[in-house]
Amino acid sequence: MKLPESNVDKHQKFKKSLTCPNCGKELKKVNVDIEDVETPAISYQCLNCDYFSFEPESIMKVIKEIKSKESPLKIKQKIIKLSKDRLGMYFNQDIVKSLNLKSGEEILVSVPDNKRIVLEIE
Ligand SMILES: [Zn+2]
Repeated sequence: MKLPESNVDKHQKFKKSLTCPNCGKELKKVNVDIEDVETPAISYQCLNCDYFSFEPESIMKVIKEIKSKESPLKIKQKIIKLSKDRLGMYFNQDIVKSLNLKSGEEILVSVPDNKRIVLEIE
């Protein structure tokens, strides 16, 4: 089957975006299961530097689905090593946008039990 030219162009553009903006390494496509959402979100993860981003169309679908169910956004993320003995976690861009988080901002961290970490924006 011969693809129309426009499709070929789209495919090439798509392929270009599959490299990490931080280190230029190839990104791995990973389906992320989100609690209470039927369609998994497609994410791109760099195995070299922990860059992580959601495919915009798929995260929009997920956000729509969550809004229609009014359940809180839950995303599975990995704890990463920042430096020796220090652990951290990136805030996903969609979380940053929806909460309007800024670097340097202070948040309250509480641990209500051994299964939850609650972050409160002041
Ligand atoms: Zn990278």
